[in-house]
Amino acid sequence: MLLDGKMVRDSLLAKAKEQIEREKLNLTLAIIYAGHYEPSERYIKNKKKYCEQVGIKPLIFAMPNVKSEEEIINLIEKLNNDSNINGIILQSPIPKGLDIEKCIKHINPQKDVDGFTKDNFYKLAHNLPGLRSCTPKGIIKLLEYYNIDLSGKKVCIIGRGNIVGKPLIFEFLNKDATVTIAHSKSSNLKEITLNNDIIVSAVGKPHIITEDMVKDGAIVIDVGITVFDGKIVGDVDFDNVKDKCAYITPNPGGVGPMTIAMVIQNVIDAYKGGNING
Ligand code: NAP
Repeated sequence: MLLDGKMVRDSLLAKAKEQIEREKLNLTLAIIYAGHYEPSERYIKNKKKYCEQVGIKPLIFAMPNVKSEEEIINLIEKLNNDSNINGIILQSPIPKGLDIEKCIKHINPQKDVDGFTKDNFYKLAHNLPGLRSCTPKGIIKLLEYYNIDLSGKKVCIIGRGNIVGKPLIFEFLNKDATVTIAHSKSSNLKEITLNNDIIVSAVGKPHIITEDMVKDGAIVIDVGITVFDGKIVGDVDFDNVKDKCAYITPNPGGVGPMTIAMVIQNVIDAYKGGNING
C-alpha cells in the first residue's frame, strides 16, 4: 500500500487553513535566502505557495551578495525582535565558506520552525514539547495517519545527517521503536535492513535499497532525493521493492509533501509559543 504524502499533506493543510481562519491568526514566515543555489529557489517557491494557500504571509529575504555570517546574524536578530514574525527559516545551503551553524544558533528557538536550534533538538531528544525538525516529524505523522503502531517495531534509519537521520532516531525512540542507525561506514547494510520492520533511507544515492534488502511485509520510507535529468530519483528501487512491502512511500509524493505540511504546522505552533508537538 502506498503511503500517500500528497493526500495527507492536503488534508493537513486544509485543517491548518481552517484553523487559521477560525482563530483569525495573523501569521508571517520569514525565509532568509543567502547566496544563490538553484534547488533552493524551488524549495522557497514551494514554501511560499503553501503558506499563501493556508493564509500565512511569506516574506523572502534574499541576500544574493552576502559575504559574512554577521550580515545573516544581524537579519536574524532583527527578525527575532519583530513581533510580526512568527517563524524564521534560514534556507540551506548558505554560500561556501560561511558557517550555517554559527547563524542558526542565533534564531530564537520559539521562531525556529525548522527545529534546528540546539534548544529544540534537546527538547526532541528529551521528548519535551518543542518545534521539531520538519522531515522527521512529517515521517512520523505519515505513519500515524495510516495507523501504523511503532511501539516495539524494529526500525533502521540509513543516513546520519543532521536534518533527517539524527533527529529521526529520537522521533522513533519517543514512539517506543527499537532503532538502528546506519551510514557510509556501516558494514553489511543488507543484513541490517533485512532484520528490520521499517526501513528509512535518507542517503541521496539512487536505488541503494534493492529488492533483496527488504523482508516481506516491511515498511519502506524513501527520503533521498537525487535529481537526474530534471527528475527526482529516490534511494529506493521502487518498482522492484514495492511488491514486498506492506507500505511504501512513492518518491516524489511521499516524504517531501509531508515536510512542507510540517513547516506550516510549525508556524502555527510557533505562534502558540513553540510548545506544542502537533
Ligand atoms: P547528508 O547530511 O548528506 O547525509 C547523508 C547520509 O547518508 C550520511 O550519514 C552518509 O554517511 C550516508 N551515506 C552515504 N552513502 C551511504 C551508503 N552508501 N550507505 C549508507 N549510508 C550512506 O544528507 P541529509 O541532509 O540527511 O539528506 C539525506 C537525503 O534526504 C538527501 O538526498 C536529501 O536531498 C534528502 N532530503 C529529503 C527531504 C524531503 O523532504 N524529502 C528533506 C531533507 C533531505 P556518513 O555520515 O558516513 O557520511
